[in-house]
Amino acid sequence: MYSILDNYRAVFSSQWWEPERIKRMQERKLVRLVQHAYTTVPYYRKLFDQAGISPSTIATLNDLQRIPVSTKQTLIQQDPNELISSRFKRAELQHDSSSGSSGTPFSVYLDKDYVLNRNMRFLRGLMATGYRLGDRLLLITDRHGGSGKSWLRWEKASPEEPADRLLERIEAFRPSVLYGSGTPLRQLAGKILDTGQALDFLKSVVWTAETLDERTRQRLERTFKAKVFDFYGLTEMGLVAWECQAHDGYHVSDDSIIVDYLPISDSGGTLRMAMTNLNLYSMPLIRYDSGDLAALQAAEPCVCGRGLSRLERVEGRVVDTIKLRSGASISPYSFICQLEILEGLERFQILQDTYDHIRVSIQSAPGAQAHLDRDIRKIVQGIVGTQLDVTFQYHETLPSEGNGKFRAVQSLVEQGK
Ligand SMILES: [Zn+2]
Repeated sequence: MYSILDNYRAVFSSQWWEPERIKRMQERKLVRLVQHAYTTVPYYRKLFDQAGISPSTIATLNDLQRIPVSTKQTLIQQDPNELISSRFKRAELQHDSSSGSSGTPFSVYLDKDYVLNRNMRFLRGLMATGYRLGDRLLLITDRHGGSGKSWLRWEKASPEEPADRLLERIEAFRPSVLYGSGTPLRQLAGKILDTGQALDFLKSVVWTAETLDERTRQRLERTFKAKVFDFYGLTEMGLVAWECQAHDGYHVSDDSIIVDYLPISDSGGTLRMAMTNLNLYSMPLIRYDSGDLAALQAAEPCVCGRGLSRLERVEGRVVDTIKLRSGASISPYSFICQLEILEGLERFQILQDTYDHIRVSIQSAPGAQAHLDRDIRKIVQGIVGTQLDVTFQYHETLPSEGNGKFRAVQSLVEQGK
């Protein structure tokens, strides 16, 4: 198991290593994790036995690909005792839960060493945005438990708080870094524009939990007078990928997570991510399919000098691909990348409710509706062709979901029906 120093070293130094050296570390960790999972976790023992895999034959990243993928849906259906390592006592583990696509939460049980690794990775992501220890940080989140250490100068606010109240807190606390999910940040920006207040103390704004489009990024940067950094994380993996100051793709936490990219029956470079958490021993997750989609960045090194690999972007969730009767599916990003650049389009949401129909909801700037209507129809029809009926609706304000998150493209239709 790992000490604080090992964790610190692994996370903060290894980001600057050559990719080859990072890969060797991944493989060393993988060998140990696979042995551990096979000998102490009933679920993995069965999975390996059924697939005819001996753990001693898994030594490289290529070997890893022989291990069957486990979807979140499969794991949700297991008894937690099947997933938790017999080396740990459940009562001593930190319990957390991640939302399932069907609404059933997925319970994860985290050991202390892992939590330390996860926190270090979060800190590393923050420091890449310009945050330094001692800086004030305001987290608009329900997460990050009660671990707030006073010397850290971190404060938490709830995403449920109304934007005017949040703005008051921000002005009183004067954080250097503001962290939050998309919906509260967007509402806050709206409030700042309404009141004409200027914030001059922010170094950076960290956006998380929702897909960030280019238009929104630019609007937030103008409003907050600070650079926006996008973080992609999962409860069960911690911070997976994050932007450095180059804003040229997302660095993957390769030191702690191996991401396998699996093609989906579609087009244009969209891949599902299956992740192996190299530090989580209490409840190992090996080739865990999170249900999220990404596109890979070309392999040349980032100008920042980090050796960590990069995603070009995170594209949303596989359940939100738009499904066609032919069996093909369209990545949420196909719509986002074409619509986000339209002048006067403030927000949009595309919802597939049946196999034959999508609804496009639009929030437009005053006076923009006429030209938008023409452009949006052309773009959407260009993507879906004649395979789907499309209804267009205009709204004053598009609502978020109950959990305060907003998904620009959403599908209620299951794959392969
Ligand atoms: Zn970089």
